[in-house]
Amino acid sequence: MSEAPNQQAPTDQAQTWRDDFSRVLSPVFGSPQLDLVRGEGSYVWDAAGKKYLDLLAGIAVNALGHCHPAWVKAITEQASTLGHISNFFTSPPQINLATKLHEVLDLPAGSAVFFSNSGTEANEAAFKMARRAGGGGRPIIIAVEGAFHGRTMGALALTAKAAYRDPFAPGVPGVVHVPYGDVDALAAAVNDTTAAVFIEPIQGEVGVRQHPAGYLRAARELTQDAGALLVLDEVQSGVARTGTWFAHQDPEIGEGVVPDIITSAKGLGGGMPIGATITVGDANTKLLEAGQHGTTFGGNPIACAAGLAVLETIENENLLEHTRETGAWLTEQLTAIDGITAVTGMGLLLGLELTEGLDEKAIAARARDAGFIINPVAPGRLRLAPPLTITRTELATFLEALPGLLHG
Ligand SMILES: *Cc1c(COP(=O)(O)O)cnc(C)c1O
Repeated sequence: MSEAPNQQAPTDQAQTWRDDFSRVLSPVFGSPQLDLVRGEGSYVWDAAGKKYLDLLAGIAVNALGHCHPAWVKAITEQASTLGHISNFFTSPPQINLATKLHEVLDLPAGSAVFFSNSGTEANEAAFKMARRAGGGGRPIIIAVEGAFHGRTMGALALTAKAAYRDPFAPGVPGVVHVPYGDVDALAAAVNDTTAAVFIEPIQGEVGVRQHPAGYLRAARELTQDAGALLVLDEVQSGVARTGTWFAHQDPEIGEGVVPDIITSAKGLGGGMPIGATITVGDANTKLLEAGQHGTTFGGNPIACAAGLAVLETIENENLLEHTRETGAWLTEQLTAIDGITAVTGMGLLLGLELTEGLDEKAIAARARDAGFIINPVAPGRLRLAPPLTITRTELATFLEALPGLLHG
């Protein structure tokens, strides 16, 4: 995140929190664009009282929008009942959320959920499972160029961008990146030394990019034949974001593929930190034995209560259907706007490809000034990942403003 151009001269108040931030916080995120104090539904407010339509939702996290009553109720009730135990014990929210995940994924008997606290940790657990594949004798893990899997050392090794990895060499060994969308390259790479292939059903951080038709199916067949695992990273694409519970359940995205491991986080907690590594079937569940992995906060009752509220609210408010229909309508509206050459993604995870010469960072800065939060995700591309509860009326205000924002 770099300082956006065209930033207006900060007010005194804005200068104060910026100064305070740089005095007390780590520089890794760069200079923050806003200091936000409150949220409700699809909107957030800054310290000066200015209102923004949040079309990023904490990067696909606030699935129910901000401070949804069902989510607030679940968290507050759980916090005043039982806030934390340890993994020597269990609690109803942990069991209930895992049960609900089994249900929405229609998992076969023997499948299991391991809860952690973030997407990177969910992938880290999957990485360790991959090390145990084939009894531990398979040294290679394959990931795809353009992929983002997280920032801890194992997940970082899977992440494609060299700029994220290189400063931390030596990285975790054994990871090979194959060119995006190239079935032949994948076929050439997968063999009996391959422990696993990691794939995001839709690549988020590179600008919301779906794999070409046939790619996921080929990946499943190749891994199956080689005795390797297929791991789908649904950290960004999961939890109704694309209009099915998990993106790979959409026949067009997932091509009917059943993975060995699914990782989830972001939208799962709706704003509470939680990750999940889901093993499909008994053999995959047994990749890790008792004592081989763990985390203090995993299965935390408050985080799990939040997750359960997210999944139940998606069901109660018909948000799968709403996301599909709203996403299709929004895609159609966006495609008609001059300056947008293509709209990628599905449901409410959309990438806008801009006409050559348009500056995504300048557009996002102008949008912010106009009261819209959007994300300049990659060169020439904007990302939208609004709350799944967002209405067409709310989106219409953005669609009306967008032509002016694109062309300054
Ligand atoms: C965000 C993201 C991660 C990392 O999740 P964190 O919670 O930031 O650790 C991993 N994979 C994908 C696909 C992501 O979008």
